[in-house]
Amino acid sequence: MSRVFVFAAGGGGKGRSWKWRDMLRFAHISQCADLAASIERDYDSLCVKQPIGRELFKLFCQSRQDLQNFMSLLDALVFETKLDDERLDFGFNLHQCLSGEPFTQYQYSMFFDRFLQWKMLERQPITKQAFRQYRLLGKGGFGEVWACQVRATGMMYACKKLEKTHVKKRRGEAMALNEKQILEGLDSRFVVNLAYAYETKHFLCMVLTMMSGGDLKFHIYNMGEAGLQEERVRFYAAEVCCGLMHLHRKSILYRDLKPENILLDDNGHIRISDLGLAVKLSEGGLVRGRVGTLGYMAPEVVSHERYGMSADWWGLGCLVYEMTAGHPAFRARGERPKAAEMERRIQTEQEEYGDKFSKAVKDLCSSLLNKDPKERLGCRGYGGKEIQCHSFFKKVNFRMLEAGLVEAPFKPDPRLVYCSDVQDIEEFSAVKGVSLDQSDDNFYSKFNTGSVPISWQKEIIETGCFKELNTFGPEGSRSPDLDW
Ligand code: ADP
Ligand code: MG
Ligand code: MG
Repeated sequence: MSRVFVFAAGGGGKGRSWKWRDMLRFAHISQCADLAASIERDYDSLCVKQPIGRELFKLFCQSRQDLQNFMSLLDALVFETKLDDERLDFGFNLHQCLSGEPFTQYQYSMFFDRFLQWKMLERQPITKQAFRQYRLLGKGGFGEVWACQVRATGMMYACKKLEKTHVKKRRGEAMALNEKQILEGLDSRFVVNLAYAYETKHFLCMVLTMMSGGDLKFHIYNMGEAGLQEERVRFYAAEVCCGLMHLHRKSILYRDLKPENILLDDNGHIRISDLGLAVKLSEGGLVRGRVGTLGYMAPEVVSHERYGMSADWWGLGCLVYEMTAGHPAFRARGERPKAAEMERRIQTEQEEYGDKFSKAVKDLCSSLLNKDPKERLGCRGYGGKEIQCHSFFKKVNFRMLEAGLVEAPFKPDPRLVYCSDVQDIEEFSAVKGVSLDQSDDNFYSKFNTGSVPISWQKEIIETGCFKELNTFGPEGSRSPDLDW
């Protein structure tokens, strides 16, 4: 198998198709009437959550004398150092004012017209023609993951392709849809984001944040002596903790925490990936079901009990242990115990702490690896906050971390490929004897929803396309393309 490797950068116009302006050409405002009539007029969604919506509302406010101060206050809020509660109150009052008369007026302005035009672009159907495909990144249960690039913007992503016949043969429909639906509801810098979901004749595709720095398994075991320096353990553990808290706030239990599911980006930050086993719990609910990878399953999962978020905090304990020790908590390096023996160890054996463990990291691990889920750190009523307050994280400023303002202690070398022999990964081919029919189309149409709004809007802004295209002609919003 030979392939041409092309590395193209994201922003700055690099990697965009020469036809990019045509691909992102605004519809005439008269063609946006249906959208205008049907779009939900919700201030929070239109002016705060959606990045392009926020930009246009900001431009609107800047165009009005009486609102200019509001906007600078709102911007300042992001980097404000006041106490949390004070800050929240202040922000709340600000939004309270803006969501009244200004929001009403905004909807009659050319800025809102422009927002609708962007939304029309966002809602264009997505096919494989929207992307260039580059190198193979990895292989999963139902197919492969490839590096890809959006032709219109130059943005790089990872495309997880599920082979339709494989999914059908192994009855993976519910799992695939579950992963896609959970991902599209998330927006965290510590969880892989979904940008597009589309289908081709043979594949279902999820286009995800590109994580080119390899997984933690590789970094723990293949970069010299097994294990990581405590600074790195602290940093990754802190980011994973934030990622889990984001999921838990949305009542999502992840269930598959292990080093190979934690991926690094090229700046050295991590994201949780592979949400195929995640479940949405009903409020305060519990689930049953032995899922996950045996070596990382919590005692309550192993023993078929009902469980909740406690299972993920156990997983974090396993992860911190393995990063520090250079081997999993209940298995020596190279050892392959039978399933029954693994279960026994998880349920009854006390893990051992060698001299790689400082007092603080040992205390953190043993509190997370408490066999009793009610006594476990993170499960005693305060959730992940309790973990963030542990002495091991004393040096970590979680607000800065959440804002993306902390630099990673290790930055992957952009010239290296952090994975073992992608070349050896066999190519996926269709399963013979499986035919696809009408009932499959029903499932595919639920999957095939195109661009995910917040991710798409971020992409447009980050790649500079927004700045270049969002110009206003003398007549207002209708003539952005007169100048070229
Ligand atoms: P599965 O659910 O089938 O196990 P994964 O989501 O784990 O599939 O993806 C399979 C492999 O593809 C991963 O082990 C990793 O090597 C690679 N991969 C997955 N997601 C990304 C990503 N966002 N960026 C880079 N590589 C990825
Ligand atoms: Mg996987
Ligand atoms: Mg999976």
